[in-house]
Amino acid sequence: MDAEEYDLIVIGAGPVGENVADRAVHGGLRTVIVESELVGGECSYWACMPSKTLLRAGAALRGARDAPGAAEAVTGDLDVAAVLRRRDEVVHEWNDAGQVEWLGQAGIDLVRGHGVITGEREVTVGGRVLRARHAVAVCTGSASLLPDVPGIAEAELWTSREATGVRDVPASLVVIGGGVAAAGDRLLKPMKEAIRTSVFEDQWASMAIAVASRLEHAGIIGSALYAKDRLRESGV
Ligand SMILES: Cc1cc2nc3c(=O)[nH]c(=O)nc-3n(C[C@H](O)[C@H](O)[C@H](O)COP(=O)(O)OP(=O)(O)OC[C@H]3O[C@@H](n4cnc5c(N)ncnc54)[C@H](O)[C@@H]3O)c2cc1C
Repeated sequence: MDAEEYDLIVIGAGPVGENVADRAVHGGLRTVIVESELVGGECSYWACMPSKTLLRAGAALRGARDAPGAAEAVTGDLDVAAVLRRRDEVVHEWNDAGQVEWLGQAGIDLVRGHGVITGEREVTVGGRVLRARHAVAVCTGSASLLPDVPGIAEAELWTSREATGVRDVPASLVVIGGGVAAAGDRLLKPMKEAIRTSVFEDQWASMAIAVASRLEHAGIIGSALYAKDRLRESGV
């Protein structure tokens, strides 16, 4: 089968891959981006955007309740259905049509599917072979790594994806790790004050997760890897 030729092949259409591809096109390179899930990546659908939207309503309510004058105007609780509807709007109901359109306008080709590096500067996606004249940029992000805790596989565990995609606020929640991604507590409590939450953390776990989070932002490693070691040491 003939390979399709590009100057640059980008694997992963998250914020990093989109920026790499956009800059390459501006530099005159013919560029294709390969994406196995949604164009926009974690940030748009399961991370930055939905989490900030969910946090905003609770923070605004708390802010108003803390301000004499405004507090008197607060007569009810959060409208959970409205908060979740706004989240759904922000993540475009997990539909990436808008970002696909942007790729087209930016002059970036899209190939949907799981990219596998099958040779030097060669990526195979399903039955299609792509070949790069210059380079393959691996912009595949990171995924949650479950800690090796007995029983965790049977526990209907949430990662940040389930937390930011929540449809029903549960009656109780156990959060393992106290770092930035462990926002389930702050995310859900304003929606259901009766929710019981337990957060397992200690200062070292928090620090490790904060450092790991910086690395994660740099696209180097998932924070859960650090949390896992720390949890094991803590006997959790
Ligand atoms: C709950 C939460 C909240 C966050 N909030 C913020 C925030 O407010 N601000 C902020 O700056 N950052 C935030 N982050 C971090 C931010 O989401 C990540 O730093 C960012 O998404 C990383 O971008 P990326 O392009 O490297 O990876 P990703 O966004 O993970 O994108 C990688 C893409 O590659 C695709 N992919 C992987 N392997 C393949 C393959 N073999 N073939 C084809 N496609 C593949 C994936 O499907 C994915 O779409 C948050 C993270 C979490 C978990």
